[in-house]
Amino acid sequence: MEFSLKWLAFEITPRCNLNCIHCRTSASMNLKDKLSFGDIKGVIDEISKEFKPVIVLTGGEPLLRSDVFDIADYIKYKGMRVGLATNGTLIGKKMALKIKKHIDIVSLSLDGSESEVHDDFRKVKGAFDATVRAAQILKEIGVDFIVNSSFTKRNQHDIENTYRLAKSLGAKAWYMFMIVPTGRAGELRSELISKEDYYKILKWHFELELKEKKMLVRPTCAPEYYALVDIERKKQNINFERRTLKFSTGGAKGCVAGQLIAFIGYDGEIKPCSYFLRSAGNVLESGFLKIWHESKIFKDMRDFESYNDKCAHCRYINVCGGCRARADAYFGDYMAIDPYCFL
Ligand code: SF4
Ligand code: SF4
Repeated sequence: MEFSLKWLAFEITPRCNLNCIHCRTSASMNLKDKLSFGDIKGVIDEISKEFKPVIVLTGGEPLLRSDVFDIADYIKYKGMRVGLATNGTLIGKKMALKIKKHIDIVSLSLDGSESEVHDDFRKVKGAFDATVRAAQILKEIGVDFIVNSSFTKRNQHDIENTYRLAKSLGAKAWYMFMIVPTGRAGELRSELISKEDYYKILKWHFELELKEKKMLVRPTCAPEYYALVDIERKKQNINFERRTLKFSTGGAKGCVAGQLIAFIGYDGEIKPCSYFLRSAGNVLESGFLKIWHESKIFKDMRDFESYNDKCAHCRYINVCGGCRARADAYFGDYMAIDPYCFL
């Protein structure tokens, strides 16, 4: 596997107009942006010297930053594609037209098929209606979008309906996120989907993926899914071809944190992925490339043979790899086995 940055999530603000129970950033309107436009340009300049990843502007709510489209334009000027991960609540017609002009792909967060479920998760009444309206406007004016959905025990009953809603809204892809307990989600551990249900849901997803020909579907941060697909494919003797979205992380492996993807936080901290607890360094101190190439955490992510416990001897290490963030959150060791491994 060649380790090259294909996809970068860049958290340009910690501010957010929602108060989601699972937020990894613990975002709030009381927080302040820490990276200036000049800081962000510097990071983009540095990265573009060696890589041309898709850069996804995230937060918090990235649309709260008044220079969000200047940042997007600069990324494009440097020859890279730009995504926007938004809760959608600030998107009316005028904003959607700006998005069309400056952004290549949008991801919207929708955690249920009805307002009772989604708004309970997002802690703001009316959030569901606003996000659905955003999806409809984007569709109407021809902007491609993905729907990201996060699940815990409180909304796992609504997984299938949420998939149907994403499809009916015309999403290019539906990504089902298995929440990793970091940020505000750290307080939620007892609410996380059980390991037994995790397995059942991934099996359900495999059957869904076999049937779903139009919209791309993928469980995200559920690396064991890649092993399960391998096992089921052989067991059922089927020719399963994985489809790839043109803005995907580019990985045909469960977890690609620090291998093909990375994350920069609103404070400049660099991590292998957005759920990772530990920072490998800061863009304002050492720049990005030095951390990508030389930091212990990033080097560890790529050294599959030095993973601990069962992962070290697992035949699926190059297929799954286990969730390193979840291992760290549960065992204080990001090289340990993924506590949700069912193999
Ligand atoms: S042992 Fe590790 S690599 Fe193997 S399936 Fe489990 S989590 Fe994945
Ligand atoms: S470490 Fe876990 S949360 Fe991070 S990219 Fe890998 S699977 Fe996802």
